[in-house]
Amino acid sequence: MKKKVIIFSAPSGAGKSTIVRHLLTRFNCLEFSVSATSRAPRGQEQHGKDYYFFSTEEFETKISNGEFVEYEEVYKGSYYGTLKSEVERIWAKGNIIIFDIDVKGGVNLKKLYGENALAVFIQPPSVEELRNRLVGRGTDSPEAIERRVAKAEEELTYADKFDVVLVNDNLEEALVRAEQMVADFQAK
Ligand code: 5GP
Repeated sequence: MKKKVIIFSAPSGAGKSTIVRHLLTRFNCLEFSVSATSRAPRGQEQHGKDYYFFSTEEFETKISNGEFVEYEEVYKGSYYGTLKSEVERIWAKGNIIIFDIDVKGGVNLKKLYGENALAVFIQPPSVEELRNRLVGRGTDSPEAIERRVAKAEEELTYADKFDVVLVNDNLEEALVRAEQMVADFQAK
């Protein structure tokens, strides 16, 4: 049994979480990697389901103890990372891990897992469209939206480091293409 992983990375607001959630309903063999973060929970988010929420101090202790496969300070003052224990937990069940992770983390995991990883970069149609989506989502302040948009412009330059680029200009079509990619990778 190969230990496989599927990585989804994208500038935030590109529709990555929607695509990942959809795939999880379609493929029983996929299991979502719950990341650790030092940011505060938003809305209905639950510890152990959406993220493992830790204080900055707890997170930094885990970094020193070498408990992460990868971690990044995705936003200033907010750490996000993948715990080794999470990866082992999912593989122990024979499942394929699906990651929803920032672009730098995605590139690092691809380097780490090589052929056993399918790394997908989801590309929003345009930066303007991305801004509209973040406004529509209504979970971020105007300042936070501008920070995310500026970051997205930089993140778009990472696309060529991934195995495939999935342009999300039409969600229905993107979902069908994503399903096909997963089915092909699963069969490999
Ligand atoms: P949010 O705060 O909106 O939930 O997530 C912010 C960003 O952090 C998203 O791009 C998300 O994909 C990324 N992220 C979530 N978990 C991880 C992780 O474990 N490692 C890294 N490097 N990025 C992550």
